[in-house]
Amino acid sequence: MKKILFTILTLFICTNVFAISVKEYIKVGILSGNKPITIGCDQKYYFVSGDKQVVLSAGKVTVNPETNTAVIADKRYKLPIKFISSKNCLLVNDKIYRGNIIVNCAGNKINIINELKFEDYLKGILPKEASSSWNTEALKTQAVISRTYAAKNVGKHAKDGFDVCSTVHCQVYGGASCENKKCNLAVHDTKGEVVLYKGELAQTLFHAACGGHTDDPKYVWGWKQETPSYLKGRKDKYCKNNPHSSWTTEVDESFIRQKLIAAGYKVGTVKKISYSGKTTGKAAKIVTISSSKGKLKLNAYTFRLAVDPFKIKSTMFTSIKCKNKKFIFSGKGWGHKVGLCQWGAKAMGDKKLSYKKILDYYYPGTNIGKINYGK
Ligand SMILES: [Zn+2]
Repeated sequence: MKKILFTILTLFICTNVFAISVKEYIKVGILSGNKPITIGCDQKYYFVSGDKQVVLSAGKVTVNPETNTAVIADKRYKLPIKFISSKNCLLVNDKIYRGNIIVNCAGNKINIINELKFEDYLKGILPKEASSSWNTEALKTQAVISRTYAAKNVGKHAKDGFDVCSTVHCQVYGGASCENKKCNLAVHDTKGEVVLYKGELAQTLFHAACGGHTDDPKYVWGWKQETPSYLKGRKDKYCKNNPHSSWTTEVDESFIRQKLIAAGYKVGTVKKISYSGKTTGKAAKIVTISSSKGKLKLNAYTFRLAVDPFKIKSTMFTSIKCKNKKFIFSGKGWGHKVGLCQWGAKAMGDKKLSYKKILDYYYPGTNIGKINYGK
């Protein structure tokens, strides 16, 4: 009897704790600035400004935004202005977006906002954050972690009047123009699924390739809080034989010097760059820059971001050499190396492992829950 009661109680607690509520619609900042934009639709559509509603015929209108107002077809309207079509689809500067388009201002800044269903938002992320040529299980994995990341970051841009932006700062979002069938299916087949840790949305951090070992966030971002167990660096047997397994890049001395000066560091002509220390993920902890103005020691990740995170793909260096005023960096992996390794996830999917297995491998101790979409 006791056992049955305990089971019922556990079930009750689990089903309640694991229900995550998120608003059905999300607001994505897609453009900002005072430049005129065009908004259009291939059928009748309308916009709302205050208590005015203006019906437009199929085609395009130019919106000239100014502070607090915008001029459309020689008439001035108060912001916010919301464009709506019964087709649930509009064109902004000839790019297709699902949902509605809002023109609004926050302070002196004009923002163009795409308001759309949370699940539709994910369809515009997947082709940008992953590759549609990847296997279905890797794409489903990306759908679940992008959904979790978005749900956790709703309201990140509240001061700008929207929830998330469309750049790497949040997640790269390309609207309906970038959608494709395979990615849309991965979103559909995992509808509402998110990664949970102890009943709450997990921090589903991810990167392109870990180079064989993921890393602990404390080395990358200097986290003061204790790292949750699922984000601790660990060996990754699936991240090998991919385009980022090992890399070499040449960077001009003057480029490095200018970038470091621009980031606020005192640096003269760079003579030598060396690295020291080892993180959990086998990356360098410190980079030392010896220049005509002395020695500068930087956190390796800070150095990479300051110089160029695309040229210097990771801080998992295997060598840094200097030749003819050029520095030759060699290393493994691409990105910050924390959390899920996308190329590792792809390799697991290629081996026919399910997205649930992939998520369990990269975020051990987490489980999959479901979002309840509300108003
Ligand atoms: Zn952002």
